[in-house]
Amino acid sequence: MRMAIIGGGIAGLAAAYELEKAGAAGSPVDYTLFEERPRLGGSLASEIVDGAVLERGPDSFITEKPAAAELCRELGLGGELLPSNDAARKTFIVVRNRLVALPDGLMFLVPTKLVPTALTPLFSLGTKLRMGLELLHPPRPGSGDESVAALVERHFGKQAVDRLADPLLSGIYGGDATQLSAQTVLPRLVEMERMYGSLTRGMLAAHRKMRSLAKHHSSQTQNRGAAIFTALRGGMQQLVDALVARLDPDRLRTATPVHAIARSGSAWSVDAGNTREQFDAIIMAAPAWVAAQLLAPVDAALGADLGGIPYSSSITVNLVYQESQLGTLPEGFGFLVPAVEGRAMLACTFVHRKFLGRTPPGKAVFRAFLGGMNNESLLGEPDAALVSVVRREMSEVLGAKIFPATAEPEHAQVSRWRRAMAQYAVGHKERMQRVSARVAALPGLRLVGNAYDGIGVPDCIRLGRQAARELAAVPAEQANSRTS
Ligand SMILES: Cc1cc2nc3c(=O)[nH]c(=O)nc-3n(C[C@H](O)[C@H](O)[C@H](O)COP(=O)(O)OP(=O)(O)OC[C@H]3O[C@@H](n4cnc5c(N)ncnc54)[C@H](O)[C@@H]3O)c2cc1C
Repeated sequence: MRMAIIGGGIAGLAAAYELEKAGAAGSPVDYTLFEERPRLGGSLASEIVDGAVLERGPDSFITEKPAAAELCRELGLGGELLPSNDAARKTFIVVRNRLVALPDGLMFLVPTKLVPTALTPLFSLGTKLRMGLELLHPPRPGSGDESVAALVERHFGKQAVDRLADPLLSGIYGGDATQLSAQTVLPRLVEMERMYGSLTRGMLAAHRKMRSLAKHHSSQTQNRGAAIFTALRGGMQQLVDALVARLDPDRLRTATPVHAIARSGSAWSVDAGNTREQFDAIIMAAPAWVAAQLLAPVDAALGADLGGIPYSSSITVNLVYQESQLGTLPEGFGFLVPAVEGRAMLACTFVHRKFLGRTPPGKAVFRAFLGGMNNESLLGEPDAALVSVVRREMSEVLGAKIFPATAEPEHAQVSRWRRAMAQYAVGHKERMQRVSARVAALPGLRLVGNAYDGIGVPDCIRLGRQAARELAAVPAEQANSRTS
C-alpha cells in the first residue's frame, strides 16, 4: 500500500513514524512525505542560543494528554522530559497597566473559592456579586452552540469575558472568545450548565467527585501532583529530530509543496514539483485551509467546509537578558493581556521561571506573543519594530524599575506563524460531523492536524498516529471509510 503524507508538521511526522513502525513489523506499507518548507516540524522549532533554549513555537504540552510524552518515551527522550515549575505557577492579568494575579480556585474560567474571589482586585464589586448570584443560575437544556464569550457573560458578566475568558483563550488559542465555540472549547462547562445551571456548583460537584474517586481508586491517583505542562530539556526541536532520525530519508521530500491532488477509481494522484505520483491513500496533514484548496476539486462540499475553518496568526518574540539588568520580577510564570487593554502583546512567559534548567544562571528569557485574531497586521512589521514594541510594553506593564526600556537584550528572536492556529469557531462540532461523513465517502483519505479534534501537540500526535495505524491495517484495495 503506497501512502502520501502531505505536511511535515508534528501530525505528519507522527503519522510517518507510525508507518515506519508498521513497515518494520512486516506490514506492506510504503510512504512519501511531502513538506512545502525546507525544514520538517511545522510549528515546532527551537534553538539553543548561548545555553538558553528558545522556543519559536510551542514550548511544552499539557501533561494530562499522554500522547506527546508517550511518543517522547518511545523515542528514547524519557530522560529529557521536564515538568513545569508549578511551585511558581502564578499567572497575572494586566489590568490598566497593573499586574493582578488570577485568584486562587479558578477552574476552567469558573471561580470556586469564595474568599479569593471576594478579595481579588481583578473584578469590580458588581462582577463579584454576579459571581455569587451565579449559584442560582437555572439549568439550560441542550440548545445550539454559542460562543465562549456568550456562555461566560451569561453566567458571570461582561467583565469576566474581558478580564478572564478573552486573555486566557487568546493566550492558549490565539483566538477570540466571541468566536470560539463553547461546545468544542469548553464542553465540560456546557454539560455542567445543562445539569446544574450554575457552573460554580457544577465545578464544585465535579471536584468533589474527583477527590472521592481518587481516594477510592489509588490507581487513578498516579498522575496526582504531575506538573501541568511538560517540556523537553533541549526544546521541542528534540522531538522533531528524534522523529526524523527514525524515518527513511529517501521517503522525505522537503521543499516540495503539493499543488494538486486528484482521485481516479480507488487511486489518488499527487502533483508536487514537476512530478505526478499515484498512491492508494493520503494522510492530509497540511493546515485545513491548504487541505480545502487541494480537496475542493475532489469534493467541493468537503473543500468548502474545510475552507470555513478560521485560522489565526501569531508572532513570538524571545528576549534574553542578564538578570542584573533587571529588577525583581513578580513571582509567577508570566502575564496575559486582555484585548481591552489595547496592547500589541497578548501574553508573556517568564521562560526561566516556567521551566528550570533551560536558561543559564544569571539570565532571564521572556517569550512574548503578539498577533491573534484581532491583530494580524502586525505580521507585516519588521523584526526591529516588533522587538521595540515588546520592550516598551514590557516596561510599561512591569514598571521601569523592573524592566527598564533602555536595557538592551543580549539576544532577540522573532518568529512569525501565519495562519498556523486553527480556531474552533461556533458550529465546529457540526462542521466536523459533515467533514467526517464526506471523508468516509472517500476511501483512503484521512485528515490530521490541529484543525479537527484538539489544537495542542498531543492531539496532533494522537490523530497522526491513529490515521497511520488505521490505514496500515487495511489492505490497499479496501483503504476505506473510517473517519479522520
Ligand atoms: C506560536 C505557537 C505556540 C504554540 N504553543 C503551543 C504549546 O505551548 N503547546 C501545545 O500543545 N501547542 C501549542 N501550539 C499549537 C501546536 O504547536 C500546533 O497546533 C501543532 O504543532 C500543529 O501541528 P500540525 O502538524 O497540525 O500543523 P503544522 O505544524 O502547521 O504543520 C503543517 C505542515 O504542512 C506544511 N504544508 C502546508 N502546505 C503544504 C503543501 N501544499 N504541501 C506540503 N506541505 C504543506 C506546512 O509547511 C507545515 O510544515 C502553538 C502553536 C503556535 C503557532
